[in-house]
Amino acid sequence: MKILPEVLRILVRGPYTERYPKVENPPAPGYRGRPRIDPEKCTGCGTCARACPTGAIVLSDSGGERRVEVLYGWCILCGKCAEVCPYEAVGMSEDYEHYSSSSSVGVSEVSLKLRRCRLCGGPIAPIKLIEEIEGKLREEKLEDAVALSDLCPSCREILLALVVSQRLAPQSRKERT
Ligand code: SF4
Ligand code: SF4
Repeated sequence: MKILPEVLRILVRGPYTERYPKVENPPAPGYRGRPRIDPEKCTGCGTCARACPTGAIVLSDSGGERRVEVLYGWCILCGKCAEVCPYEAVGMSEDYEHYSSSSSVGVSEVSLKLRRCRLCGGPIAPIKLIEEIEGKLREEKLEDAVALSDLCPSCREILLALVVSQRLAPQSRKERT
């Protein structure tokens, strides 16, 4: 007979649950929902992907572009990506409707054009990121480093090895004579 007071309470006050999604249910203040990446600010540096504890942020290079994707099925809403982004490009939204039936479904947040190596033509990094780094190097008056910024790591290594060997060659010839 304990059910009778409960039925009366529901009849007077209404049910405990809400008719979601028919009735909107805004999140409580301070709720940390899905992370959003601002494409205007993001440089594609990958700091967020390296810091994400669940591997929910994926960077992929293809077709001359770098894509930054968030796999919402993996995201635990920890906010680490927002904390570490050096460009303040990640914000935690109030959006809680982001889960999917597949953990591998990603939402492409950002797409950035890649710079190609001037020697081998291979992709290096997003143009936006390289320009940002070049700006910092110029501020520090490191023009020699700026001159190497349009080379991929392999070509840079080969070029530096050639420069070093050319500089050392006259010295070793002198030592032999
Ligand atoms: S969101 Fe921030 S940390 Fe992540 S790739 Fe973009 S700029 Fe880098
Ligand atoms: S909120 Fe946490 S789990 Fe989700 S993408 Fe950011 S770092 Fe990864």
